[in-house]
Amino acid sequence: MKDENCIFCKIANGMIPSRTLYEDENFRVILDLNPVTRGHALIVSKEHFRNLYEIDDNTASRALVLARDMAVKMTEKFGCDGFNVIQNNNEVAGQTVIHFHIHLIPRYKNDGQTLTMKPCGMTSEELDQVKESFD
Ligand code: AMP
Ligand code: ZN
Repeated sequence: MKDENCIFCKIANGMIPSRTLYEDENFRVILDLNPVTRGHALIVSKEHFRNLYEIDDNTASRALVLARDMAVKMTEKFGCDGFNVIQNNNEVAGQTVIHFHIHLIPRYKNDGQTLTMKPCGMTSEELDQVKESFD
């Protein structure tokens, strides 16, 4: 299924040109238009899914295999020293384009990028409560 109002549907299916690094029947991997490091790319599904919650089994299983293969090849080609794989879901988590995608972010020594996670400071009791709320 495609959404004719969705820009990533159009990019993934070749209706809008992109700097494509890789393409197969399920995905297109493109350079991000506003990269946070050199080589920042996006795995974009050809089908329209809003986010991770909605992807089907085929997309889910192939996406991580592709992320691994791209990480290996991009590390070889771009000579990066490390790699972040980031996937945002819903506005509160930083998702701005509502079509499933995975960020592939090559990291270089001294690249000046932070992308760090800040601990929210939970006590041991609070961690126990979180665990219990999942049971
Ligand atoms: P997110 O915040 O996870 O939804 O990420 C959306 C990403 O898509 C951002 O990093 C944008 O820079 C990128 N982006 C938005 N429009 C385009 C476009 N037309 N081509 C390539 N990347 C895009
Ligand atoms: Zn779409």
